[in-house]
Amino acid sequence: MPVRVRKDWRVKGGKKPPDVIDCTRPGPFGNPWVVGRDGTRWECLAKFKDMIYGSWSVSSRAKLQAARGLACACPLDESCHVDVIIEWLQQEPSSSA
Ligand SMILES: [Zn+2]
Repeated sequence: MPVRVRKDWRVKGGKKPPDVIDCTRPGPFGNPWVVGRDGTRWECLAKFKDMIYGSWSVSSRAKLQAARGLACACPLDESCHVDVIIEWLQQEPSSSA
């Protein structure tokens, strides 16, 4: 199971580690809702949660589960959409998916 990591390879001048998936915007695992523009942080996380539980595929789940880390730019002491992703990965896949 991956852990949430801070996207810090840019400031360190390095490259993304190969076993880390970049979950920042824009990208397939980014949160398309923006805090402020689309609501509060909690509202944006709730919309994101609805989306992944409703529409993310089994292949996305497998890809994310195989990673060592899921990276976002958020400070690790703030709640972040990556927390929602990891929570989703820990659920049993529903049989209807
Ligand atoms: Zn984040």
